[in-house]
Amino acid sequence: MPTDYYEVLGVARGATEDDIKRAYRQLARRHHPDVAEDKHAAEDRFKTINEAYEVLSDPERRRMYDRYGHASNNGGAGSGPFAGFGNAEGFGDIFDMFFGGQRAAQQQRPAGPARGSDLRYDLEITLEEAYHGTEHPIAFTHLAGCETCKGSGARPGTLISACDRCGGSGVMRSARQTPLGSFVTQTTCNKCNGEGQFVQSPCETCHGRGRLERRRSLTVKIPAGVDDGSRIRIEGSGEAGARGGPSGDLYVYLSVAPHDRFRRDGLDLTVDVPISFAAAALGGKIEVETFDGPIEVLIPAGTQSGTTHFVRGHGMPAVRRSARGNLLVRTHVVVPSKLTRRQREVLEEYAEIAGDGSEERSFFDRFKDAFRVD
Ligand SMILES: [Zn+2]
Ligand SMILES: [Zn+2]
Repeated sequence: MPTDYYEVLGVARGATEDDIKRAYRQLARRHHPDVAEDKHAAEDRFKTINEAYEVLSDPERRRMYDRYGHASNNGGAGSGPFAGFGNAEGFGDIFDMFFGGQRAAQQQRPAGPARGSDLRYDLEITLEEAYHGTEHPIAFTHLAGCETCKGSGARPGTLISACDRCGGSGVMRSARQTPLGSFVTQTTCNKCNGEGQFVQSPCETCHGRGRLERRRSLTVKIPAGVDDGSRIRIEGSGEAGARGGPSGDLYVYLSVAPHDRFRRDGLDLTVDVPISFAAAALGGKIEVETFDGPIEVLIPAGTQSGTTHFVRGHGMPAVRRSARGNLLVRTHVVVPSKLTRRQREVLEEYAEIAGDGSEERSFFDRFKDAFRVD
């Protein structure tokens, strides 16, 4: 299933060529199959990234993609069986048959004010915030619709006249006969640059642009369970469309900062907990600090260093379903670096009792060597 090339590269629809190049370089470095762990998944991802970059870095192919979506990529630029139909309006319909609709239908918007660009905001949160869910205030600058002229660009009370060349549609059409039927070629009107209208007297607030740069603050609701790379879409909070067109969306890209105690793996959390060798040998309850406060974990007698104990349901919550991961408590047996005289006596006594050539014997022999005082 094709994905949106702008989304693949993580750039806004209005991104400059430099933005696109930068985004591509970063992604290519991160997802290169030579450096990725999962080679197979990385190869597919890398292919998609390259495909997106090939189209968006070429102004002509990008223009086609903006207008026709993926259909343009499959037949445009002189390749494939439909080469030469580049600008034909019927193009979308042909590909409709192959790709099952939707995409082509979406692309055939009626001529009208263009939608505003989508915006991207990068936000870093802590693992604890991701665990509980949170609300984060953010502030950013965007192009907002001008209140004075309601985005039209015309001074209130003055006229906006339709373009006489294109009749206000912003596009020029001409019919053409081809072996596959009649096609209508559509090009942007070069008199009004596709806007379909002329402003007689420009609005003074926005100098006729219909939009103004504005600082905007809002609070982003972050659901519990989000992960590194999660994206939150805030509809209509992107840039205002030109000439009163609909606003784009704001995408908040989340990154979760590494935690100094917990590591996340899917929904599971892993934590390393040191225990004394006495606790490991005798077993018992130990206290483990979690994001929900301390919990008690039962350690069986004879626990070896590096043993993982599963605590059900204390992992990360899932975002869209009622599920929860587990907490993996990995215990590490810590050998004391100092012993009191009494401790030493008891341990030496233990070593003697246990001394029958077993594993424990050799462990305590080594232990005695390590702490020999005289
Ligand atoms: Zn205005
Ligand atoms: Zn025109």
